[in-house]
Amino acid sequence: MRNRPFHGFLTLLLLTASAAGISAGCATNPVSGTPDLVFMTEAREIQLGDSYDSKVRSQYGIYPDPALQAYVQAIGQKLAAQSHRPHLKYHFTVLDSPEVNAFALPGGHIYITRGILAYLNSEAELAAVLGHEIGHVTARHGVRQHSAATATGVVGAILGAATGIQATQDLFSVFGNAMLSGYGREHELESDRLGAEYLARTGYDPQAMIKVVGVLKNQEEFEKKRAAAEKRQPRIYHGVFASHPSADQRLQEVVAQADKFKTLAAPGIQREDYLKRLDKLAYGDSASQGIQRGRMFYHRDLNMALTFPEGWHVENSPYAVVSWTPQKEALVMVKKSARPSNSLTSLESFLKSQAKLSAQFQGQPIPDVKLASVTGTDRMAGPFGTRETRVSAVHYGQNAYLFFGATKDPAALTRFDPDFIATAASLRPLKPAEKTLAEGQHLRLVRARPGDSFAGLAKASPLTEYGELTLRLINDKFPDGEPVAGEFIKIIK
Ligand SMILES: [Zn+2]
Repeated sequence: MRNRPFHGFLTLLLLTASAAGISAGCATNPVSGTPDLVFMTEAREIQLGDSYDSKVRSQYGIYPDPALQAYVQAIGQKLAAQSHRPHLKYHFTVLDSPEVNAFALPGGHIYITRGILAYLNSEAELAAVLGHEIGHVTARHGVRQHSAATATGVVGAILGAATGIQATQDLFSVFGNAMLSGYGREHELESDRLGAEYLARTGYDPQAMIKVVGVLKNQEEFEKKRAAAEKRQPRIYHGVFASHPSADQRLQEVVAQADKFKTLAAPGIQREDYLKRLDKLAYGDSASQGIQRGRMFYHRDLNMALTFPEGWHVENSPYAVVSWTPQKEALVMVKKSARPSNSLTSLESFLKSQAKLSAQFQGQPIPDVKLASVTGTDRMAGPFGTRETRVSAVHYGQNAYLFFGATKDPAALTRFDPDFIATAASLRPLKPAEKTLAEGQHLRLVRARPGDSFAGLAKASPLTEYGELTLRLINDKFPDGEPVAGEFIKIIK
C-alpha cells in the first residue's frame, strides 16, 4: 500500500467493525480439516467480503479492458475450481493501479493490479499469483486477521478527516494491514503451498510459484532502494519474504510437495500468449486517473493541471490527490466535486455544504485567480486533529475542486498558508505541450532485433530514470541480461 503516515487514526472504526463482524460459532478449517478458532460463519465471511468489494473498486478503480479482465477471470476460476473451497463464488478483478500488488478479501474477492501484471512473463506466473491469493481465501487468513487488523491508509484517513465521510472509507482500517502488507511468514508460506497445489491440479508447472516470487523479489529490492531515495513507501507485493527464493529452503519444500498433484498433461507455461495480452497495457500512472510528474499533476480527461509546493510529496488516488511535506508537518488534499456551471447556489454555499463547514464560515475569492474561486479558514477535524484548516474551492468545467490544507502544529498554519493558497491558485487547463504527458505511458510488445540492448531500448523510451534497470526487471532479465534476437520483449512507450 502507499504511504501511511497517519495510521492509528481510524482505530475506533476498527473496533466497531470488528464487533459487528464477529459472531459466535466454531468452524472447521477448509484446508486443514481441523477445528478452526475463527468465530465467523461462512455466510458472514462472504457478506463481509461483498461489503468491502465496492470500497476496493472505488479506492483503486477498475482497469478498463474487458478482454484482459475476462482472461484473468477465466484463469482464476480454473484454479478456484481445484481449490479447497470450490463452492465459493470467486471474483477476479484487475485494478487500475501502478502499484505492484494482489490481494484477497474473505469470501472470494481477489484483486490484481495492472502494475504487477507488467512484471509477470507467462500465464503460469499469473496463475501462481492468483493461486497464492486463492490460498488466503481457502485457508481463511483474512478472517483470522480480521480481529487483529490495525488502522492504516493515508488517503482514506485524510479524506475521512477532512470531509467527514470516514464511514465509507474505513476499508483499510479493517483489512488494510493484512490484506496489503501480508499475513506473516507462516500464512504466506501456507498460501504459496496451496497456490502451488492449485497450479499443479490445473495443469501449470508449480515451479512457477518460485519463479514469480523471484521476479517480485528482484522488483522489491530495486523498489525499496528507489523509494528510500524518493522518501516514500515502496510499492511491493505483500507475499515476498526476506530471503531470495533460490535460497529459501522452506519455500522450495512446500512447492515441491505440489508435484504429487500434477495432472498427466505436460505443465503449461503459456509465455507468448500471456505477453501478447499485455500489449498497450497502461504503465505507471493512468491517463484516466491523472499523471503525476514531480510536483506537477496532469489530468487528460479533466483537461486540468495542478502545481504542488516545491519538495512536497504527491500521491494520487481515484478520488483525491494528497501532497505533504517530507517531514509530514503539513498536507494539502484536493478533491473533485461535480457542480454544473449553471448551478444556482454560490460557490461558497457549495463549498460549505460539501465540506460541512460551520455556519460562520466566510470566504473570499483567491487573489489573481481568473476562475471562480473562494477561500477561507474554518475549524475542522483532520488527520492531525481538530484545528483551523485552510479550505478553498475553484470552479472549472463541470466541477468544483476542493482544497484542504492542515498543519500538525496549529501555530504553523500561518507559515504553510501561502503554500495551501498557491496550490488552489495553480489550477489551470493543460498547455498544448502537457497534453502528451497527460496521456501516460504504455507497455508495448515487440520482437527483439539483433543488437538490441536494454540500454538502447531505455534511451528510446520515455523513462527518465532507471530505464535500463526497469526494462530488465519487467522482462525477467535482472540484473544483467540482454534481449535475445527473435524473442518477445516488453518495452515502454
Ligand atoms: Zn499473501
